[in-house]
Amino acid sequence: MSIDITQLTIAKAHNALKKGEYTSVQLTEAYIVEIAKKNPDINAYLEVFSDAVEQAKVADTKIQEAIATKKDFPVLLGIPCGIKDNILIQGKIASAASKLLETYHATYDATVVAKLKEQGVVFLGRLNMDEFAMGGSTENSAYGPTKNPYDVTRVAGGSSGGSAAAIAMNGAVFTLGSDTGGSIRQPASFCGVVGLKPTYGAVSRYGVMAMGSSLDQIGPIAQTVSDCETIFNVIKGVDIHDGTTIKEESRTKIQDSRKMVIGVPRHFLKEGIDPAVMDAFNKSLDVFKSKGYEIREIELPHISYSLLVYYIIMPAEVSSNMARFDGVKYGMHVDGADGIQDYFETRRAGLGKEVIRRILLGTYVLSSGYHDAYYNRANAVRRMITADFEKAFGSVDIIATPTAPSPAFKIGEKNKDPISMYLEDVFTVTANITGMPALSIPCGFAQKEGKDLPIGLQLTATHGAEST
Ligand code: GLN
Repeated sequence: MSIDITQLTIAKAHNALKKGEYTSVQLTEAYIVEIAKKNPDINAYLEVFSDAVEQAKVADTKIQEAIATKKDFPVLLGIPCGIKDNILIQGKIASAASKLLETYHATYDATVVAKLKEQGVVFLGRLNMDEFAMGGSTENSAYGPTKNPYDVTRVAGGSSGGSAAAIAMNGAVFTLGSDTGGSIRQPASFCGVVGLKPTYGAVSRYGVMAMGSSLDQIGPIAQTVSDCETIFNVIKGVDIHDGTTIKEESRTKIQDSRKMVIGVPRHFLKEGIDPAVMDAFNKSLDVFKSKGYEIREIELPHISYSLLVYYIIMPAEVSSNMARFDGVKYGMHVDGADGIQDYFETRRAGLGKEVIRRILLGTYVLSSGYHDAYYNRANAVRRMITADFEKAFGSVDIIATPTAPSPAFKIGEKNKDPISMYLEDVFTVTANITGMPALSIPCGFAQKEGKDLPIGLQLTATHGAEST
């Protein structure tokens, strides 16, 4: 039978499985066929698991049992998904799109994976990304860039480019990504799908390769906001293995969404933004207004320092987190003249340019004499930025900005100039700096060279207010 998997949502797939319209095996096979068709062009998947259909058979048995006994079954049972390649699935390769981990097999499940397994999802495969999640275009993958399904001459965004492109090419019902400075939201915006970066500590980071430990969060990418909510509700929660996880305490106070006040930091939206993005953004605000929402201009006095703060704190944490890849514990080993040379040779052979750049930058800002001037100063400004947002949330419920200053750019356009690539993160890094949740939703298209390129709208809420 043929299953329509274009823009298939969790709710629709769950209902169809419940009614017996198709089985999880049939659904999984439909995705595998679509991936085989699209992936050679898009390169979203680094691997499609050979046991995906086996997993679906197990799910089908449980579904049959539930149907026979007239019981409900978990909403994600039998639903095919893809996982970013820095999230561990026991027994599978987890390469973080690095040469260094090309043959590294995960020895345990990340907590988010364990939670999805409890539901009985089907893991279709591993998704491409910038090496160790460092980048904004997936061009830093050691396995080639992921291409944008809307225009294959353009990037899918990054670092979770594979996770976003997989949804846009109908290659999974949902995917997981990680977001340290925008890596779920920016690719979601480039690929016309929905991506949620949860509150820091809402979702366990156990079993996810650390990039910037005070910034990293795991979150869903899917076709709809309600799918993202479903997945968030499954993966969130306190985890004994991650001491930064926090007890859920929803801060949503809104009873009637039409009374909601949307704050817009106009002073931060003046330069460097593609006119098509600004146009789509303003039109979205008009839609909100016409539905009764109030739009209020707000001031975030220190927001212009966000990118600077991020590009000090993030590489500092990167340099420390990357120390574990020493050619002994994980993956690749290259022999040098002695023990210490093994370490240098392994990293030289195994790591890409951008990763090395960040290790150098981070080591520098943490070095004696510069630690106070850079790292400590950046942390002080981080607190000021967070205080600005907390103050703003005293009078508004949501803060709206574009997700990224431009639609998807051309492959090769920015990767020779790291600064121009870093500028892509101008609107997304604040949610990681403050630890607040932020969602990117599609809000229109830009016409470039005869192609329609998706644009994203970013909505940020205060800590714990995902449901807002
Ligand atoms: N583009 C940002 C960077 O290069 C964000 C990366 C991320 O969120 N993992 O650091």
